[in-house]
Amino acid sequence: MKTNVCVLGAGRMGSSIVRTLLNQSYPTSVWNRTVVKCKPLAALGAKVASSVEDGIRAADIVIINVLDYAASDALLKHESITSALVGKTIVQLTSGSPRLAREEAGWVEAHGAGYLDGAIMATPDFIGKPETTLLYSGSREVYERHKALLFALGGGTSYVGEVPGQASALDTALLTQMWGGLFGALQGMAVTEAEGVSLDTFRSHLSAFKPVVDGALFDVVERTKAGRFAGDDATLASLGAHHSAFQHLLEACEERGLNAAIPRAMAAIFQEALSVGSSDDDFASLSPVFRNRSRSQNSEPANA
Ligand code: NAD
Repeated sequence: MKTNVCVLGAGRMGSSIVRTLLNQSYPTSVWNRTVVKCKPLAALGAKVASSVEDGIRAADIVIINVLDYAASDALLKHESITSALVGKTIVQLTSGSPRLAREEAGWVEAHGAGYLDGAIMATPDFIGKPETTLLYSGSREVYERHKALLFALGGGTSYVGEVPGQASALDTALLTQMWGGLFGALQGMAVTEAEGVSLDTFRSHLSAFKPVVDGALFDVVERTKAGRFAGDDATLASLGAHHSAFQHLLEACEERGLNAAIPRAMAAIFQEALSVGSSDDDFASLSPVFRNRSRSQNSEPANA
């Protein structure tokens, strides 16, 4: 017998979750603030819960996927609901910060329910695919018990750790890396266009450059892990070499009147690292600047 699931929230993502669960034959009920969004799901076999409380009472596992934690709190934090939570499992798939995840876990567990906090590293069309990653943190016991259902939502599902905010932290970190690349592409397009290079040409060179960028990316992670900030024989390009090339971006922005907000912020970070280190250092010597730490403190865990 498959677990009874209730999904709270039938937006783009919630609806995709419901469709996937139905495809995998999970008995699934759904509730949404406006019932109209539940109708197509009902046509596929979902039961429409008449209220949040009814949905929770009828389910073993409740998946929440609404806009944000404020919306989720507004659904859960009522006396009638808290009594319905006892013995249930809550899987929070609404995006939130690590702090919100920690607070939510404490609140849910204090009301007698199991809790897992999840981060969906995909768009709705990827839910249920073998390669799709959802990250979870919180109770390992809950994760193990519901593994089959969790993997039904994405074959690349992964447990990050017992601290409930860890999945959100990893989500934020991965998105930060993505935004870095996307903001970089926006800046790069402004530079290429200003110099009469077409975006097609820019695009055509991205793929060939990608392995080089990926190499530098993994190198900076490995060096930061090991605290290897001084330049050495394995250094790919020194801080000084990066800084010198970076001046060309500042100059292009200045000369062509481009938005230099991000380059200026990057320039300040370069300067901070150079003021305490040297141009012979590795690029990874920028890492402690992001933690507001000196190099010697860098490898200490945040909660030490
Ligand atoms: P959406 O706008 O399509 O749906 C939002 C849902 O939240 C709707 O069902 C709406 O009724 C509900 N909602 C909003 N305010 C509410 C309130 N006050 N009370 C009750 N319900 C309320 O958004 P979505 O794309 O489905 O995203 C849902 C969650 O999934 C968000 O936290 C989002 O960050 C996360 N997420 C989305 C994607 C994506 O690609 N769409 C990817 C990863 C994570």
